[in-house]
Amino acid sequence: MFSCHRYHNIDKEEENPMFCPVCKSEFKPSITVCPNCKANLVEELPEETFSLLKTANKRLVDRTVTYFEHLNIKTEITEHEEIDSIVYEIKVPVSKKRIAVDELSTIMKYEAEEALKEMTPEEYAELEEEARENAIKRSAPSGYTKANVRSAEYKSSGLTLIVFGILVTAYIVLGQLDIVPFPFVSYSKVIFLVLGVAMIGYGIYSLIRASGIKGDEAKEDDDESKVNTFLTKVFPKEEIEKIGSEDDSPEELKFIKRMDFVKEAVQKEFPDINANFIEQLVDDHFDKIYN
Ligand SMILES: [Zn+2]
Repeated sequence: MFSCHRYHNIDKEEENPMFCPVCKSEFKPSITVCPNCKANLVEELPEETFSLLKTANKRLVDRTVTYFEHLNIKTEITEHEEIDSIVYEIKVPVSKKRIAVDELSTIMKYEAEEALKEMTPEEYAELEEEARENAIKRSAPSGYTKANVRSAEYKSSGLTLIVFGILVTAYIVLGQLDIVPFPFVSYSKVIFLVLGVAMIGYGIYSLIRASGIKGDEAKEDDDESKVNTFLTKVFPKEEIEKIGSEDDSPEELKFIKRMDFVKEAVQKEFPDINANFIEQLVDDHFDKIYN
């Protein structure tokens, strides 16, 4: 027992090796300087780190550092000068790789939500204008798209954007982990990340917009019943046929003239209702009478 203890102590002392901090080579305890690098040997090499994220977003870096401190994950930040910005690299000990990646994706989702909240009214209006133009372009061939359809369109494109945004963000994280190959220069990771975060942000915006449009549905239903009541009362078949009856133009032309006359009358009666919507309701009214 005694000899064993003694032996253990001596053994430990004799086997405690020294390391070169430059080439990481291991040496006998009696050696103090690395013969290759001329560097002073140390008893313990600093823990190997893993490059978690490169980003130009300083706030994201600060948030990550603070949060990781709270979780007892050591971070090491290095600054790299890129084309027109400073890119920060966050390194964490290899042993904390898994938890660091998990926590980072939570922080980035939160960051995307914050970015959306912080948009100025001008930025928001610009985004809204863009969305409106796209909606007009989309609905142009059919003339008028009802609120429930538009709302469903926003909802589906919003969800698609969020899913793709998360995929792009996840791809960067997986590339960072070397789980998937990332065959681009490191700078493009930043671009991909910005893209991913922007997609999530615009996706959330689309969902907000979808729920806003959904609120228009009730007013639209109300408008529709007002116009239909007016059409049934003022423009039944016999009244429509009186329009341009003395006119000797061909039947097809008369039909178009009658339709235009009715549309104009309805628009005059309901100046606040969307002209395209009225047009569609008058078309439907004529369809009911003549088909
Ligand atoms: Zn060395």
